[in-house]
Amino acid sequence: MFLKRIEIQGFKSFADKTDIELSGGITCVVGPNGSGKSNISDAIRWVLGEQSAKTLRGSKMEDVIFSGTSRRKPLGFAEVTLVFDNKDGSLPIDYSEVCITRRLFRSGESEYYINKNSCRLKDIRELFMDTGVGKDGYSIIGQGRIDEILSSKSEDRRNIFEEAAGIVKFKTRKEESEKK
Ligand code: ATP
Ligand code: MG
Repeated sequence: MFLKRIEIQGFKSFADKTDIELSGGITCVVGPNGSGKSNISDAIRWVLGEQSAKTLRGSKMEDVIFSGTSRRKPLGFAEVTLVFDNKDGSLPIDYSEVCITRRLFRSGESEYYINKNSCRLKDIRELFMDTGVGKDGYSIIGQGRIDEILSSKSEDRRNIFEEAAGIVKFKTRKEESEKK
């Protein structure tokens, strides 16, 4: 499985629809300060269900919607789609290409989709469980996260190993059934 395309529209500095094609291997994003490099990784975290505006470097979730410039009006919604190549079947879903979309309106209304079918955030979380992808997965290592991992509590470190070992879904199911 690998991320093959990111489609961004109305998210932070990406007012116009922008498609970023990624081939396998390593992709580097370079550009001057403030040109939107970190906004791309924020967009990825956001689709995967990040609920903390602070983690996305804002003060409220609405801050992810393009807020306008002196020459351009603010937009009413933000939408990001991640397209994964799933030819190897890493994601437990019967599609060789999997699109995950999140849309947020200024009214606060939020929508999630898997392959254009409306779904819950929980469905997206479950789809990526144990793959290392996900808002808390180890596939996104932000600035300072290495320090955090090294110095964090042993339980937090354990979560990282459990995700890598592929047992998070069993643990989550056990916790859910214990709650019932
Ligand atoms: P650096 O090299 O300094 O890390 P960067 O390329 O990572 O820079 P970003 O932090 O991704 O830059 O982009 C910051 C830019 O995004 C700022 O110019 C900011 O005004 C713009 N921006 C952030 N949120 C919004 C928004 N909601 N609407 C419009 N522009 C936004
Ligand atoms: Mg940056």
